[in-house]
Amino acid sequence: MSKLVCKKCILDSEIPGIQINEKTGLCHFCETYTPLSPQEKNEYLTRIEKLFEQYRGKGNYDIIYALSGGKDSSYTLYKLKKDYPFLKVLAVQFDNGFISENAIMNAKKMCEITGCDYFQLTMEKEILYDTFRKAAESYDAFPRFAKYRASDICNICITIIKQKLIEQAILQKAPFIVFAFTAGQSPNPIINLSVNFIQWSRSLFEKQLQKIDIEDKDEIFLLKKEVLENIDENVPSILHPLCLWDYSEDKVLETLLEIGWELPGINDSNSTNCTLNSFACYNHLEKYGFHPYAFDVAGLVRSGEMSREEGLKKINQELSQPLIEEAARKFKLKVKKSQKILAKI
Ligand SMILES: [Zn+2]
Repeated sequence: MSKLVCKKCILDSEIPGIQINEKTGLCHFCETYTPLSPQEKNEYLTRIEKLFEQYRGKGNYDIIYALSGGKDSSYTLYKLKKDYPFLKVLAVQFDNGFISENAIMNAKKMCEITGCDYFQLTMEKEILYDTFRKAAESYDAFPRFAKYRASDICNICITIIKQKLIEQAILQKAPFIVFAFTAGQSPNPIINLSVNFIQWSRSLFEKQLQKIDIEDKDEIFLLKKEVLENIDENVPSILHPLCLWDYSEDKVLETLLEIGWELPGINDSNSTNCTLNSFACYNHLEKYGFHPYAFDVAGLVRSGEMSREEGLKKINQELSQPLIEEAARKFKLKVKKSQKILAKI
């Protein structure tokens, strides 16, 4: 059967698990998609505002913020502090050994502009390289749904960030953790964590690390058990305010450039901050045969945050060969020419 592409988003019938309904021309996700209405979004915003009122000022910080220095997280920090200037924010930037100088500069600049504290989470490069190499060499270490959301390398990285942000929130007694996910990426604006859930996600990650032959005995990546044991009744919540705001990439960039954020020089259409991203995409395509951003971009297109045309362009754009080779050198891995692989999608 020839390849069918969903009429609404960009998913196609060659991606494992994706079926396009021949009658409607839509994928399963688009057929069952129900976005939040403007009224629902307003209700969520009101709830978030009430939470801020109720819980702020009780810990060292009100918010532990995941700041990559890329456009979405920079913009969300800016708007969050503009709308709620009273919030005390600790912005955490994870240096995974591949963040660009430009991303570090932008992150620090955003903290200066917004009056937030900046904290760089660093780890030994060799440990990180070893972990990413093992993730690259692994196959099916993550369950299917995780594999659809991101590459194995990105999954490791984002899970480290989540673990360490929860750890910081507990240590700082901060009631909220904020990520800059858009509506297409995370439709759930408020996630109330529980001690059980935090424990479960920690042991799940521990098992995933073991699957790729990493024993994190020193709890470099995992939330420290000692911290988890000392958690009081105030368990932090995760908030995704960006998914409640109007979003367009152009508007975000325009706002940021006006206030002094600088465009990255990275030749990568899917990441404005991480030089490992091209290699992570290449590795995922090699192993699983579809682009790790397919579902992410499909979500953005489905929710109207990105045009279908632009989404298709992003998914079919060539990966940066120099960035792929640079990462492979650090991991002591060989790469094939990526064009051959990209021709398939
Ligand atoms: Zn679709």
